[in-house]
Amino acid sequence: KSFNDYKLSEDILRALGSLGYEQPTDVQSEVIPIALEKKDLTVKSQTGSGKTAAFGIPICEMVDWEENKPQALILTPTRELADQVKDDIKNIGRFKRIKATAVYGKQPFAKQKEELNQKCHVVVGTPGRVWDHIQRGTLDLERMKYLVIDEADEMLNMGFIEQVGAIIEELPEDRMTLLFSATLPQDVEKLCHQYMKNPLDIEI
Ligand code: AMP
Repeated sequence: KSFNDYKLSEDILRALGSLGYEQPTDVQSEVIPIALEKKDLTVKSQTGSGKTAAFGIPICEMVDWEENKPQALILTPTRELADQVKDDIKNIGRFKRIKATAVYGKQPFAKQKEELNQKCHVVVGTPGRVWDHIQRGTLDLERMKYLVIDEADEMLNMGFIEQVGAIIEELPEDRMTLLFSATLPQDVEKLCHQYMKNPLDIEI
């Protein structure tokens, strides 16, 4: 198994090298080739499996640097995870100069608005604040092509699942959706059926 087996650009391979990622983890070798084909996926995997890079690598690869509007939305249950995912995306996209922004509550709205107004390829955020930005017209969804729902079971536990559904309703239909969850409770399954296109199920 090697990252060279996938159709990844030099910028991304170089970043993986500088991060010390020598070969893909199990979840990465399952997810990367399918996500690169823009197919929907439901992935049952734990934290620590390398799941962030499993979606981060194909997203950084597929993002069009020239496009100024955001193209990828990653929803996380907590602020800490949002920051962590944003940092991982920045690291993977370092040589491609990918711009990533995290938006979450308890932080000035105006500063986030400012960041979203500038060139920004990837937006990572918690459902509440992402919804606020959508409502206030400060997050442009027109060019969103890639959606990741990270730790979907935690979103459910924290009472965010309906808000996640409402956000998805606002996104363009022509998009890829990847859902990651440690467990797949019924309400998460429901979300998959409702908003994903024949998702492949992967269990690690
Ligand atoms: P995660 O499951 O996304 O929280 O990742 C767990 C840890 O594994 C993080 O510290 C990553 O930096 C690291 N990691 C992810 N992919 C790889 C890889 N292919 N090789 C080595 N370390 C990795």
